Amino acid sequence: MKLDGRVSVITGAGSGIGAATAILFASGGARVALVDLDDKGLQEVRREIGAGRASVLEFKEDVSDSGAAERTIQAVVREWGIVEVLVTSAAISTGGTVTTITEKDWDRVFAVNTKGTFLWARAVLPHMIRAGRGSIITLASQLALAAGRGSAPYVASKGAVISLTRSIALDYAQYGVRANVIIPGAIETPMLERSFVRKADPEAARECSRQRHPLGRFGTPQEVAYAALYLASDDSSFTTGAQFVVDGG
Ligand code: NAP
Repeated sequence: MKLDGRVSVITGAGSGIGAATAILFASGGARVALVDLDDKGLQEVRREIGAGRASVLEFKEDVSDSGAAERTIQAVVREWGIVEVLVTSAAISTGGTVTTITEKDWDRVFAVNTKGTFLWARAVLPHMIRAGRGSIITLASQLALAAGRGSAPYVASKGAVISLTRSIALDYAQYGVRANVIIPGAIETPMLERSFVRKADPEAARECSRQRHPLGRFGTPQEVAYAALYLASDDSSFTTGAQFVVDGG
């Protein structure tokens, strides 16, 4: 199996892309630590992975809390001795332009999406450096490259995730740690659905978004999870600092 016994921490594992990644990694033999605020989502993912498996840990934590990142990684290392893969999928998306977003909402989006990537990378890196290997996989968005109307804080926070990931790749390559960012297009998850519901005409917004994808459809969380599986496995051993676009063209 591709990820035989590999210790993986996945934030946002209770829903969408994070959930699909956790399920795929577990089916590939990984030991998975699931992190999310959503307790119910965590339980469902655990059930799907299989109640009998001993290789799952769950943590109901807020990724923007630095204490939570340190606490969780220490617990994982106590249990399994190492952290080899980190996937940072937890994020929030609020609409808004520079003139309509409140400062409070701006700060919250950056706290979860950008700081929530930095804090978890910071918590795992000493363990990866000690082991002389590791793979950090972050989640940005195609909107960070192309921009998108009415989502300025989300788009900006994801642009920062791309830059942060490439900085990590440069700074820690010497220790055998790789860092790559996955850049999805529109993927059928609760987050995407919420982004349409916010619009005045959700059906028109859904159709407009679909048409932006040359393959003529939205992606599935599993199609993104396969990219994460590649980046977590030794198949991608010469890949770091890459922007891995999974956006239907
Ligand atoms: P999702 O279905 O909403 O899943 C995200 C999960 O993260 C949810 O379970 C959410 O819990 C959790 N979360 C939110 N804030 C958290 C926090 N502070 N601490 C811990 N967990 C938190 O989203 P998704 O569509 O799978 O997105 C996954 C990643 O892909 C995100 O980084 C997103 O920006 C990126 N992405 C998604 C798309 C897309 O079209 N879906 C496109 C491009 C990029 P709650 O449900 O309780 O908030």
